[in-house]
Amino acid sequence: MTEIYFDNAATQPLKPEVLTVMMPYLTEHFGNPSAIYRSAQKARNAVALAREKVASLLNCRPDEIFFTSGGTEADNWALATAFEAHQADKPHIITTAIEHHAVLETCHYLEKRGAEVTYVPVNSSGRVDPEVIREAIRPETGLISVMSANNETGILQPVAEIGAIAHENGILFHTDAVQAAGHVPLDLQTLPVDLLSISAHKMGGPKGVGCLFIRRGVSFGGFIHGGAQEKDRRAGTENVAGIVGFGEAAALAKRDLEENARYVTALRDRLVSRLSETVPDITFNGTGERLPGHVNVTCHGTDGESLLIFLDMQGLACSAGSACASGSLSPSHVLTAMGLSYEDAHATIRLTLSENNMEAEIDEAAAIIAKAVALQRTGAGF
Ligand SMILES: *Cc1c(COP(=O)(O)O)cnc(C)c1O
Repeated sequence: MTEIYFDNAATQPLKPEVLTVMMPYLTEHFGNPSAIYRSAQKARNAVALAREKVASLLNCRPDEIFFTSGGTEADNWALATAFEAHQADKPHIITTAIEHHAVLETCHYLEKRGAEVTYVPVNSSGRVDPEVIREAIRPETGLISVMSANNETGILQPVAEIGAIAHENGILFHTDAVQAAGHVPLDLQTLPVDLLSISAHKMGGPKGVGCLFIRRGVSFGGFIHGGAQEKDRRAGTENVAGIVGFGEAAALAKRDLEENARYVTALRDRLVSRLSETVPDITFNGTGERLPGHVNVTCHGTDGESLLIFLDMQGLACSAGSACASGSLSPSHVLTAMGLSYEDAHATIRLTLSENNMEAEIDEAAAIIAKAVALQRTGAGF
């Protein structure tokens, strides 16, 4: 049985074209980019070219891109280093209740080190109100961090407005754009963002590589110490093959962005219609401006975790809340922040589509979900 993969927000399969360009850097061009001989030059040039491709996706300068081990590291770097730099006079951080754990847990860690953190709420459609951010600003606010798009609902956040508010007040602004990058346009020439995190594996690149964008002119220290790589800011021999793959994934994402968005939105709308027709008593969470591929649906009176097990047995891969929330008993912090009850949050599944999915899978998945929900509601069990 081939699996229907509807968990594209958790990770995406490596694009075949990406693997092809990575292979030589896992084999013959193995040199350390910091060395001087030919195989090293090959690696060094490849890293430079990848940096240009990632910069081109974001419409920024290559020297504003600093490669990391992924989105989590980029988020940790942005928050911890911003806090350290402003700790003495500006220990206050503003973020939101719906951030990814990479931001939330870093905030919790920084609270133990003296940070004061305000977690602003969202409205029932999962959106942050820029005015609520403005009201949370204090004289000692040193950083605002608001994600570009939420990983559970796909809801796009008003980062342009929030960035403008941050800058009016002389506050550094970071956005976790891991879900958004490669799926919706991001233009750093116009977006008032100082720091931005992205990750390769959420756009068809390899796992374990991402980057932090640091706007030119923003003085920002390093995070990992021990070498001169990444202009002294992020030490460690570069993940050359990973970075090359990231560059290719970024180039493909840029090339196909509009076409993919149109295609995936149509699939998403079809899935919403099919579910509405075949599954009674469901609610879609997070409507409004959002990423093309996210469907977050509460199947009232069911248990999301046991639904997932049945769906997996039927060949449908998806998640409850987010991949990271699965396996934990606490309900999704995103859904509860949107006002869902614990029962409803527990009765929710997340289906995330990509350009790799097909119409036939949508219809099949809807039928599988309808069956699972009906079985659970009748108490027939699985
Ligand atoms: C996946 C994800 C991350 C973590 O990125 P990794 O590269 O897996 O470490 C951070 N933030 C958001 C919004 C994500 O979706």
